[in-house]
Parts: sequence; C-alpha cells; structure tokens
Amino acid sequence: MRQIPDLSVVIPVFNEEEILAGVFSRLEPALEGIDYELVFVNDGSSDRSSEILEGYCRKNPRGRLIELSRNFGQYLAVSAGLSRAVGKSVLVIDADLQDPPELIREMIKKWNEGFQVVIGARKSRTESGLKKLGLQIFNKLFIWLCDFPIPVRGGFALMDRKVVDQLLALPERHRYLPGLRSWVGFQQTEIWYDRAERIGGETKWSFYQLTLYALDAILSFSHKPLQLTWLAGLGISALCFIYGLVLIVLRILGIGVVAGFTTVAVSLFFMGGVQLIAIGILGEYLARVYDEVKQRPLFIIQREFPPGQE
Ligand code: UDP
Ligand code: MG
Repeated sequence: MRQIPDLSVVIPVFNEEEILAGVFSRLEPALEGIDYELVFVNDGSSDRSSEILEGYCRKNPRGRLIELSRNFGQYLAVSAGLSRAVGKSVLVIDADLQDPPELIREMIKKWNEGFQVVIGARKSRTESGLKKLGLQIFNKLFIWLCDFPIPVRGGFALMDRKVVDQLLALPERHRYLPGLRSWVGFQQTEIWYDRAERIGGETKWSFYQLTLYALDAILSFSHKPLQLTWLAGLGISALCFIYGLVLIVLRILGIGVVAGFTTVAVSLFFMGGVQLIAIGILGEYLARVYDEVKQRPLFIIQREFPPGQE
C-alpha cells in the first residue's frame, strides 16, 4: 500500500522539455515541510518531457509519472492525474508556473480552516489582443448563459479528497473542470493573485482550440442556446407575420403596387440562415449526447512510473 501524503500536486505536461528543470527547482522549495507527492501527467508529449520526468521520478520518491497513450488535452490529462493522486488534498497546477506555487501554503492554510475547495483566482491575465478579447467575451457570455451560477475561474485549485472523489464519480465525457468543480459544491473559497508569464516555452492552446473549448463549456452547462433559438424563431416569425399584414393592407389600399423581389429574397435567405443556426445548435447538443452514449474511457494510461503502485 502506498502511503497517503497530505498533498498531491497534479501537473499536466505537454511538450514542456525546456521548462521542466525550472519547474522542479521552484516547486520543491515552495513545498518544503509539506508531506506531498508530485503527479506528473505526460499528455502525449512528442519532445523529451517523458524522459526528463522519468529521470526526475527515479531520483525522487515523491515524484510519479502517468503516461497517457496520446494527447488527450489539458483537462483530460488533469482528470487522469486526479484519478491517480492519493493525497488527502489535491492541487492542480500548470507546468508553466503561470500560477505561483508560493500560493500553495496559503491554500493549505485555508484547507486546514475547513474549506474543501480553495481556488486560485486571477486578478489579471497575461494574454493580449484577440485572445484576451475572446476570453473576456467568453467569461461574460458564460456567466449569463449558465443554468446555475459558476464563477469563471481557471484550473489552479486545491481540493479536498472528498471533492476529488465526487469529481471522479461524475460520468460525463465533456469535462469543463472549473464548471464541474463549482457544480459539486462544498465550502469553496478563493485567493486572488496576479498571473505571471510562462517561465518558458509557449502556450499549448491555439485560438481555435480555445474557441472549441469555450463552446464545450457553454453547451455542457447551459440549455439557454436551445431556448434562445426557439425564442429567436418565435420573434422573427412574429415580425414576419406583422410585415405580411402590412403588405396585405398596402396591397388592398393600392399603395406600392408591385412588391419587389428584394423582400422575398432577403426574407428567404434570412430565414434559411436562422434555421441553419438552430439546426447547428441542436446538432452540437446531439453530438454531446452521442459522446456520452458511447461510454468510451476518458483517457488511456499507457504506463506509470513507478509501476505497479496501485
Ligand atoms: N497541456 C496539456 N495538454 C494539452 C495542452 C496543455 O497537458 O493538450 C498542459 C500544459 O503543458 C500546461 C497546462 O496544460 O502545463 C496549461 O497549458 P498552457 O500554459 O499552454 O495554457 P494557457 O496557460 O495558455 O491557458
Ligand atoms: Mg500557461
């Protein structure tokens, strides 16, 4: 039986070879005096990350490595880490240390005070331009659309074992973890901090991936897009009906005798567009239902180091 540490630190890693040495050297002092384990999840990196992590784990009994069979994406990598972490509390932190490990002590203090979820909430971001705008729009939209209140926060958080077990018990495949973390409840609190730049390397999320992810988050936590489509349909139909009445009256009165082709064409295209959007939204929900029904595993663990420590 493996010993149960007070804290498991789950770190998803995807092609981070250049910064890993810096990660070890900053995490260790930040965790000094704490009974901890480091759970690295290699999310199908194609660089030397796996080798470096294994080398570290060979030398440090606190280090463990979970190798996924391919790149599953950050949140599934974190889910894999959560499923293997054994600590009484579990912290999730990015490998790039944009979230300061020095905050961990403060988080543990809150946990000792009785909070089961301590979330690191960013006061500021480092993104700029289109990406920043996109994130801001998503945050506003998400809060407005959500079926229940979820503060938009990142993944950096300390969770009690009870919360982790509840998260792991949730069966869904589409895992917007900050949303699920809010959904499970318990006593939650936040610690605010300024987000730093990456300690090296580049972001592993493209704008396109972020967009898909934002869509996923919204569709997983809200039925409003569906309601909005039929509301929009209703509104547009009502307007068309009134417009039709106006046309009939004008016709009877003999004003503007020949109604133009433009009206017909414009309304046709417009209605076609609205219908396609509505079908598209339906399709997005249906695709998610399909994914859930398939019941595939969330991720595949190819190898663990040290091996056989169930
Ligand atoms: N990551 C991952 N799988 C991916 C993409 C990212 O495990 O497919 C990891 C990455 O190595 C890092 C964390 O997730 O530890 C956050 O990624 P990143 O810093 O690129 O995201 P950002 O901070 O730009 O949102
Ligand atoms: Mg980052």
